[in-house]
Amino acid sequence: MSKRTNGPVPKSGVLDIAAYVPGKSEAAPGVKLHKLSSNETPLGPSEAARRAFRDAAERLADYPDGSARDLREAIARAHGLNVQNILCGNGSDEILHLLAQSYLAPGDEAIFTEHGFLVYRIATLAAGGKPVVAREHDLTANVDEILAKVTGRTRIVYLANPNNPTGTYLPIGEVRRLHAGLPGNVLLVLDAAYAEYVRRNDYEAGIEMVSAFANVIMTRTFSKVHGLAAVRIGWCYGPADVIDALNRVRGPFNVSSAAIAAGAAAIGDRAHVEMSVAHNEEWLAWTSRALAALGLIVTPSVGNFILIHFPDHDGKNAGEADAFLTARGYVLRSVAAYGLPNALRMTIGSAEANRGVVAALAEFLG
Ligand SMILES: *Cc1c(COP(=O)(O)O)cnc(C)c1O
Repeated sequence: MSKRTNGPVPKSGVLDIAAYVPGKSEAAPGVKLHKLSSNETPLGPSEAARRAFRDAAERLADYPDGSARDLREAIARAHGLNVQNILCGNGSDEILHLLAQSYLAPGDEAIFTEHGFLVYRIATLAAGGKPVVAREHDLTANVDEILAKVTGRTRIVYLANPNNPTGTYLPIGEVRRLHAGLPGNVLLVLDAAYAEYVRRNDYEAGIEMVSAFANVIMTRTFSKVHGLAAVRIGWCYGPADVIDALNRVRGPFNVSSAAIAAGAAAIGDRAHVEMSVAHNEEWLAWTSRALAALGLIVTPSVGNFILIHFPDHDGKNAGEADAFLTARGYVLRSVAAYGLPNALRMTIGSAEANRGVVAALAEFLG
């Protein structure tokens, strides 16, 4: 680390940030790479989205439409939403940051859970806010623990539902109970990055809550089920006043023309989304069962990834497993930074990748 002298000093909070470390994307030389480290879809994007992205190359000199109208209209159509209540971002990460920038003054508090998505901490610190961590029960967010952390300085509660990296979720009844316990000036951010994958009768992403309450916002992404992580597209659905605040703070052209075009095409291709979800449903169940049959504990997941826990003896820990798998081309995600030093997160991949990981772990444990 370089020594800090008397040059410019970042504002308070910035140097408390541990920079986000993305999932690895390289395997050992000479082996086929199966990237299972960032929850990308093995099926890739819709062909219509690829075409729209390529066509955007013909118009690179012009600024994009700063309101991302075509994309917002496509999202509104797909989900039956009000177009004025949608705002798009350069990935939903940007929106999570915009929320912190817009609602946290220095010293204000944002609450998130013990194994919650790391961007919440980064966005809070970057805005000068104070991160407040609520304990989880059984690797699942707990409404009472969150409510117990609310103070007069609380301005935001970030909840990933389902959560990454645990794959667990809160039923809508619990989300409503959480909201009911929050003061009206606290913004409840429902990060529903994996909503499309969830197959549970008691799950809702939060659209109806946004429509009913002035202090609930839902964020979504094109990086997961739509297979467009490289293009960086996120969006949120929120009350008019919240959308107005975010529109004042965001960059005027925060979503590129290629992103607008590719996203609008992707969300219109329902068949492709259904195919991705069906693939995940089949292989999430198969992989979870197969790993459990090896004696590994797998946290029950409703997303497109699973959290695998390793026994911590005889060199069979998560670090050893990670090295063993990487040498064979299977790149999973270390989650030590999430307070889970002896687990790995595995994205549900192609049939070949899922079978390969199970076979490799059988060899590792045997
Ligand atoms: C992947 C992910 C996101 C999405 O990030 P983008 O910036 O849209 O790519 C947001 N929240 C959670 C919990 C995620 O896992």
